[in-house]
Amino acid sequence: MEREAVVIGGGLAGAAAATQLARAGRDVLLLERTRTAHHKVCGEFLSREALHYLALLGMDPAALGAVPITGVRLAACELLVETALPFMALSLTRRTLDEAILRNAEAAGVEVQRSTSAAALSRSNSAWDLSTDQGESFSARNVFLATGKHDLRGWLRSKGWHNDLVALKMYFRLSQAQHAALSGFVELILFPGGYTGLQAVENGEANLCLLITRERLRRLNGSWEAVLEHACLHSSHLRDRLSGSQALLDRPLALSSIPYGYRAPVGSDGVWRLGDQTAVIPSFSGDGMSIALHSAHLATKLFLTGNTSNVYQQQMRRQLGRGICVASALSQLLVRAPLLAQLVRVRPRLLRDIAILTRIPESAIIR
Ligand SMILES: Cc1cc2nc3c(=O)[nH]c(=O)nc-3n(C[C@H](O)[C@H](O)[C@H](O)COP(=O)(O)OP(=O)(O)OC[C@H]3O[C@@H](n4cnc5c(N)ncnc54)[C@H](O)[C@@H]3O)c2cc1C
Repeated sequence: MEREAVVIGGGLAGAAAATQLARAGRDVLLLERTRTAHHKVCGEFLSREALHYLALLGMDPAALGAVPITGVRLAACELLVETALPFMALSLTRRTLDEAILRNAEAAGVEVQRSTSAAALSRSNSAWDLSTDQGESFSARNVFLATGKHDLRGWLRSKGWHNDLVALKMYFRLSQAQHAALSGFVELILFPGGYTGLQAVENGEANLCLLITRERLRRLNGSWEAVLEHACLHSSHLRDRLSGSQALLDRPLALSSIPYGYRAPVGSDGVWRLGDQTAVIPSFSGDGMSIALHSAHLATKLFLTGNTSNVYQQQMRRQLGRGICVASALSQLLVRAPLLAQLVRVRPRLLRDIAILTRIPESAIIR
């Protein structure tokens, strides 16, 4: 049977797009590789825009246990600067959020097929042929590609502007005093060769999500313990935060070859690329999830009004151009020099300015 739309990938972008299509009465099948939602390498900072788009889907992260974030702290070279965020944000684990958004899609009428991994995608006449690792085949008139960091065979993204970073993530239970001190803040902690985000999540835990250059990681023998030691050696702030803490995963989650700065080119192949498949913004700006949700809302809005994927891709490139350029340049600066800390010392508002400059422009947000 030929489906009207198949969405490949049931993360934030895929689930949001499928929900919008189903709500508009369209036939939509969503394929998700995993059986249940799991922890992902992500700072788990939900910006105002992400919260807006989740609300449009009828979701309430606070009801899922998300904790509020109202301020940002920068710790670098023994300097500690804090400022209020220009918006209210929340923090929620991806395991909780991803499961909830997929269930929300099912409730909207999406046919969700879990434990199904798309393997090959090709065009034949007016339809798409799709086969899975499980040996199934599908035919669809429209395809929404939302596989996040995983590229489908034959559908590789280019490398982006800043691709020499490795991401490592660990949950901790901090000491009571340190958890209380962290509460309400997202902290950005710089160290030579990398930086880390730290913020509380639900259930009294804290998420430490760290980026380090491949070269620095190699010099530290690829050892997680050595990375933490290195970061703490250069940041008494992080050392204090982690003293008396307990790591909650057996080993850190890891991700490499992240194509930061990537923006999908405008093409005419007809595939609707969503989320990380359309653009990848360096993580410290914390906006990847809102881009994923924005892409889903923009793509489905244009699809439902008869526009082509080309029009969508042009709009995405235009809307995200500035934010991705600024964020990519800054992320290169962050791992190379403590310059940002010096600049912030002179101009504490800089953190707020960066947060504003790297966001999706207000005028592009779909209401
Ligand atoms: C280190 C780091 C920190 C980050 N921190 C933040 C942050 O604090 N705040 C923020 O807003 N953003 C952050 N991001 C960005 C954010 O995580 C991503 O931009 C966002 O998850 C993209 O959503 P997505 O739906 O495109 O992909 P994903 O959420 O990765 O979902 C893709 C889905 O597709 C499925 N899939 C993959 N391949 C297949 C296949 N072949 N067939 C079927 N299913 C498949 C996967 O199982 C997955 O469920 C961070 C990213 C990194 C790397």
